[in-house]
Amino acid sequence: MAKRVQTIKSLSSYPFHCPNCDKLIKEIKIYCSDLCRDEASFIRYYRACIADKRIKQNDVKAAIAIRLAHILAGGYNARSRRIPDSIRKEVIRRDNGRCRVCGKPGNQIDHIRGNSSDINNLQLLCLNCHNKKTMANLKPISPDSHPEKYAHAEALLSRVHTSKPLRLCDGTDWSKNWRKILKARKEMGKKMINIRNKNASLFMRKNRHYWHFYYWGRDEKRHCISTGESLKDKAEQFMKQFLTDLEKR
Ligand SMILES: [Zn+2]
Ligand SMILES: [Zn+2]
Repeated sequence: MAKRVQTIKSLSSYPFHCPNCDKLIKEIKIYCSDLCRDEASFIRYYRACIADKRIKQNDVKAAIAIRLAHILAGGYNARSRRIPDSIRKEVIRRDNGRCRVCGKPGNQIDHIRGNSSDINNLQLLCLNCHNKKTMANLKPISPDSHPEKYAHAEALLSRVHTSKPLRLCDGTDWSKNWRKILKARKEMGKKMINIRNKNASLFMRKNRHYWHFYYWGRDEKRHCISTGESLKDKAEQFMKQFLTDLEKR
């Protein structure tokens, strides 16, 4: 649970924190990771389904169980599972647009086993059969068998079953709020670069595989590019100092 009270203002001001896990983030974005984005989205979806009673539907129950399972497994791995449009069309054509299990019209491309998007590992299913298959593959967890995953699930579910959202990103207003926060973060990012003209500034960003780290001090100018984690730590220290300096101005 959040230690400090989350508000649009607190999430907009520097240093930036992840609205889902409170981790410090050094880039101009909302969440610290895709997993955090997925978790917050899952919680909002679950809360919305309870609020409008969709939760009583079996397909919704299945969708929630599956999303939770993906999160506990470390994320859906959407990138490696992404199916190119041409292959998608090829699977639909090969399977005559029908679910391979029940023969009803299908619209779900299923990975038969693992993540490979080779056409021989793909099949067309209907939503119902796809959900059933995924559900059958889910393994139940208990505090004894999977203590960490169980605690993770409990932490997420405690955010679902509260009348008022515990975090800003769990609430129905989030679609408006995150835009405001991102806008403020971008403004702050610009300011950081502008302050460069005064006496000290630090700007760090990740560009593809590199950390770009700039420091303009009273007595020194530095620009480093590194792939190493040590620079990340170093830059983080400078960043902290910079922020302290910034507050004094
Ligand atoms: Zn996070
Ligand atoms: Zn089917």
